[in-house]
Amino acid sequence: MIDRPTPPPIPEALKRAREDFPILKREVSGKPLIYLDNAASTQKPQSVIDAITQYYAYENSNIHRGVHLLSTEATAAYENARTKLAAYLNANDESEIVFTRGATESINLVAHSFLAPLVSAGDEILISHMEHHANIVPWQLLCERTGAVLKVAPIFDNGDLDTDSYISLMGPRTKLAAIVHVSNSIGTVNPIERIIEAAKDRSIPTLIDSAQSIQHMKLDVQVLDCDFLVFSGHKMFMPTGIGGLYGKRAKLDSMRPYQGGGDMIAHVSFDGTTFKAPPYRFEAGTPHIAGGIGIAAGIDYIESIGRDLIHDYETQLIDYAANRLKSTAGVRLIGEPSNRAGAISFVMNAAHAHDIGTILDTEGIAVRSGHHCCEPLMKRFGISATARASIALYNNHEDIDALVESLGKVHQLFG
Ligand code: PLP
Repeated sequence: MIDRPTPPPIPEALKRAREDFPILKREVSGKPLIYLDNAASTQKPQSVIDAITQYYAYENSNIHRGVHLLSTEATAAYENARTKLAAYLNANDESEIVFTRGATESINLVAHSFLAPLVSAGDEILISHMEHHANIVPWQLLCERTGAVLKVAPIFDNGDLDTDSYISLMGPRTKLAAIVHVSNSIGTVNPIERIIEAAKDRSIPTLIDSAQSIQHMKLDVQVLDCDFLVFSGHKMFMPTGIGGLYGKRAKLDSMRPYQGGGDMIAHVSFDGTTFKAPPYRFEAGTPHIAGGIGIAAGIDYIESIGRDLIHDYETQLIDYAANRLKSTAGVRLIGEPSNRAGAISFVMNAAHAHDIGTILDTEGIAVRSGHHCCEPLMKRFGISATARASIALYNNHEDIDALVESLGKVHQLFG
């Protein structure tokens, strides 16, 4: 008889949260949906859906350039999202928040507008072995163009970053230290405070990929003192197609535009163009206005529950999940990091990760299978794919128990 870990108590505010997400009421394969694919994209609360509907039904208009009522209302609503994001991250002010399509575009923006003019052949860009492709490929492209070198810090077998090695790779030619805060594949929480401190001591700018941490814990960019931080709205209960880049104002001021077009200019003539100050300099063309409005509603939603409460609860839930999965026959965890958030990867001898995902789907359980845009990390563990369960504030121990029970069936049938 296997000892079951004690399930974490669900705080009152989170018991009700499940009701706020209409999709969680639907069935899949004739069973109630159990959604454990939150690292790929979270579900949206009714309040975010309503805010977007309200915008399209009653306020729809282009922003920034109109003087009529709808345009001024839409502009105010969109800019309100920027103000809320600045407060959410404790940025100095809203000019440090650039709207982008998401984490990927934010990293590409930094690569083009910040780093490209600073690097030449032989310079170095530092990342880790557990990065998402979004924090690898833009740097590789830049290295290809400039002759710069991508340095990759190793990780330990348990999935922890070898932080000493990461820091020891910071040298006189390192032009940027980029690091994922929380691994989307194996859930490792990296010691970004130590990394940022070490980089600052060596005057190396830092970029934090917070795509998998911003929805699970409080982030304070002034306390962290990173130069850049990137995130995606759709992973934090908000719409797809919008996210952001936090950048220190001094850094943003030093950067050239990323794309050219309307709204980012001060004046245009055929002799030359001048640009607006940040953040608008980096936001060419009509933005994702409804997305911004969804961001504002999403932040209100998260704050109405409280980030500390979400973090405490999720930490207990992910520990519960890791302990249960670890003692499930036939299941092998990939990565057992000393500090975990959000996600757990596993494999089974009985079935390939994709088959696990397909079988679980017939039980109404949504997990992700594949390389999770982390092919180098998969290679590090000698595998091509994992199944991954990832949680959000609306998950509970019953979801985990259902997952474990279904994996037990997979083991019995095919193991
Ligand atoms: N970084 C991490 C750690 C991620 O998990 C993801 C998406 O899964 C990204 C970056 C890219 O995010 P997006 O596809 O929303 O731009």
